[in-house]
Amino acid sequence: MLVSAKEMLQKAKAGHYAVGQFNINNLEWTKAILLTAQELSSPVILGVSEGAGKYMAGYKTVVGMVKGMMEEQKITVPVALHLDHGSYEGCLKCVEAGFSSIMFDGSHYPIDENVAKTKELVKIVAEHGMSLEAEVGSIGGEEDGVIGMGECADPDECKRIADLGVDMLAAGIGNIHGPYPANWQGLSFETLAAVQEKTGEMPLVLHGGTGIPEDMIKKAIDLGVSKINVNTECQLSFAAATRKYIEEGKDKIGKGYDPRKLLAPGFEAIKATVKEKMELFGSVGKA
Ligand SMILES: [Zn+2]
Repeated sequence: MLVSAKEMLQKAKAGHYAVGQFNINNLEWTKAILLTAQELSSPVILGVSEGAGKYMAGYKTVVGMVKGMMEEQKITVPVALHLDHGSYEGCLKCVEAGFSSIMFDGSHYPIDENVAKTKELVKIVAEHGMSLEAEVGSIGGEEDGVIGMGECADPDECKRIADLGVDMLAAGIGNIHGPYPANWQGLSFETLAAVQEKTGEMPLVLHGGTGIPEDMIKKAIDLGVSKINVNTECQLSFAAATRKYIEEGKDKIGKGYDPRKLLAPGFEAIKATVKEKMELFGSVGKA
């Protein structure tokens, strides 16, 4: 059964660890993440961007796949199925499709409009027992064609949004999506501490988890980050393992072209990446 992310994140905040959000793209991704979470007895959040939702043939298809897989594979750890960077319309679609959590990314709206739309969604998700993530201050890099500059959120604006009754808050602290450039300035712990001070018990979300040094991740968790999004890193490890298989000519040996064989190394690579992250975030054994 899918659960809202509310309880798992409150527990993470109290226990000083973070739950990973791993974005899914297809069946292999989903299976690799769910099996790893179960093996490590870790709570997990499956992230679905609007683009990935479209790619996987619609939100209802995703819900059917995830629910069916959890039942057949006997997944008993807490799993939240979460819309990543949703538009207002996308959020409504995922509520209808049976997701258990949504993120409304209103960071590109003026703050008053972000507040108004977030407020409406707080009401809607409460009626469905779902959790809601809001965003203040755009997160840099590119995600589904949306380009942000990696700005730092205004702690007072964070408090305004947090007070609406959202369950988790993504605040820009100099983090960006995708690989980090060589001249990246690092996370702004000053901003993070200021946001944490204003928002108190609110679990904070760190987007763009790929390539942030381990000591920065640990410090961010110490300062109140309870959810960390990982997307690019699984894509890179899947691509590298698949490339190796092809370059070694293994698809030309026997029935090596069988997709179940062809995609196996990438599948194992995602599992290894997810395991590494769950260990780093401290969520192992917390299910
Ligand atoms: Zn993000």
